[in-house]
Amino acid sequence: MTGHITYPTSGEKITAKDGKLQVPDNPILGFVEGDGIGPDITRASMRIWDAAVEKAYNGKRKVHWCELYMGEKAAGLYDGNYFPEETKAALNDLLVSIKGPLTTPVGGGFRSLNVSLRQELDLYACVRPVRHYAGVPSPLKKPEDVDVVIFRENTEDVYAGIEYQSGSEENRKLAAFLRNEMGASFFEDAGLGVKPISEFGTKRLVRKAIQYAIDNNRESVTLVHKGNIMKFTEGAFRSWGYELAREEFPEQTITEEELYSTYGGKRPEGKVVIKDRIADIIFQMMLLRPNEFDVLATMNLNGDYLSDAVAAEVGGVGIAPGANMSDNVAVFEATHGTAPKYANQDKVNPGSLLFSGVMMLEHIGWQEAADLITAAYQEVVTSRIVTYDFARQIEGATEVKTSQFADAIIAQIQGGMNIEEFRARREEAIEKDRKVRELRRVSSPLEEMIASGRIPHTVGDLMNPSPISVPPETTVEDAMHLMREKSISSVITRPGADGQWGIMTQRDVISRIVSKNRAPASVKVDEVASKPLVTVPVDMTLHECAEKMSNSNIRRCAVIDKDQEPIGIISDTDIFASVEQFGLPE
Ligand code: NAP
Repeated sequence: MTGHITYPTSGEKITAKDGKLQVPDNPILGFVEGDGIGPDITRASMRIWDAAVEKAYNGKRKVHWCELYMGEKAAGLYDGNYFPEETKAALNDLLVSIKGPLTTPVGGGFRSLNVSLRQELDLYACVRPVRHYAGVPSPLKKPEDVDVVIFRENTEDVYAGIEYQSGSEENRKLAAFLRNEMGASFFEDAGLGVKPISEFGTKRLVRKAIQYAIDNNRESVTLVHKGNIMKFTEGAFRSWGYELAREEFPEQTITEEELYSTYGGKRPEGKVVIKDRIADIIFQMMLLRPNEFDVLATMNLNGDYLSDAVAAEVGGVGIAPGANMSDNVAVFEATHGTAPKYANQDKVNPGSLLFSGVMMLEHIGWQEAADLITAAYQEVVTSRIVTYDFARQIEGATEVKTSQFADAIIAQIQGGMNIEEFRARREEAIEKDRKVRELRRVSSPLEEMIASGRIPHTVGDLMNPSPISVPPETTVEDAMHLMREKSISSVITRPGADGQWGIMTQRDVISRIVSKNRAPASVKVDEVASKPLVTVPVDMTLHECAEKMSNSNIRRCAVIDKDQEPIGIISDTDIFASVEQFGLPE
């Protein structure tokens, strides 16, 4: 049974220490060429990866490939076994491997080999970077705005396989339990499925997503969920995600609410913003404002839909790369299937596998080689040298074979491209885009937040930030000038001898000064202000805030931060307008 895999003696294994990879200059990487079109695209891609590494490091670094077997090739070698133990052991041992597409064997109760691979190696995160490459046809007006990395949970959700067919004995048992003991009601003969979402499964996925965002200078991580409907599964995913960020990355992350309430829309240098979006809104946002999103963390089902939908915006699965990862093991893979009708025709697009390899080079820290391929690819596609699939969509294209496409990219790589300039241009574009968005957040925070798909649900989301405060000895006249100049209807008064903050509103001036015929210039704000100031914490829900306002019979509250400092004002009008527009959030 065993004995078909031989590690090249010239190479060294990659190891892991404290969760970090230790990569020698001559690492052994595993590869599975795959079925159908797999050999064609693997052969072409491997030539490109090797050429880029050679060029980037002048021969100082080199991948030592080790062939591993899955799918039809494995079945031929291992007596009908499509996923031999020897391959499993090598994938675990080598830590980093790449695979082509695999045929799902038909009949005989076979599970998809990809599903087996994920489950047996516990590769819990499916990682799919989706970005646009210059020259690639796209239905979007500004496809360059798409640049996200989707972290999809791979082991839980309705995909866990806990399903009971309508009419089966198990179904009847479960239905009776749900009806009789849990008080559930549903139609007779309904098929039943269970959706497990655990704290453990959620946190390890979100941890990986946040760590990636930190390591790659990404701006935000968005938790995608449908928690407004499925509270204890999707809603819990959201809560556990925020909890993990708070507990494990307190220095490196802030929430979106803090971005607005504490930082006035300006992201502090290096901090990753943790936000969340309802699953249906994220589909709309990825079409209308894709540059608002950076890293997305999703559960299994949402992520499945989302990664294909977003990939379709920038060229489709033909070029979308991917990887499945556990804490230490990573298997990179083409995301399309085996396209059997094109097998061995040297015809198809190697992009998906090629860029999975680019991801792999980035994963082992060989960024220079990865960048060379990305730059060369765009040069070639922009000059309209493409495989049949893109040729169908690009007018005046020169259609080439898979191997010729690889030749063209290698020629670019070897032709001495200016990678520094390429990288600088990209970084400059990202920085410019971030600045433009920051300006919008600072100048019109509420509009911006709502346009980017966030539904206001806390006091911090709605408050008017940076409240104006005045010293207690300020005259009412001066305070009135200030209020008119700033177009505000209240000022906060700083603590005087009594040590208490207060608030003076237009109504207070009318009822306590004007109607009493007192001269505003001779009264201090401290005498007129209402005290003590009624305050609410920045993360209080809108309904709790409304309750507090009603109980205290007031129309506005000061919003305070953790240090009890006033950082904003929220009024009943703000809450009314938000609930009218969005309803009362959970
Ligand atoms: P598919 O193999 O992805 O092919 C569907 C169509 O997508 C092809 O006919 C072709 O479109 C286009 N396509 C796929 N790869 C392409 C490439 N590299 N370049 C250009 N076009 C490409 O999907 P399928 O036909 O549904 O599945 C075939 C087999 O693959 C099944 O056994 C399935 O189980 C397996 N599969 C494996 C994986 C995996 O290993 N990760 C994933 C999905 C499916 P045109 O016909 O328009 O030219």
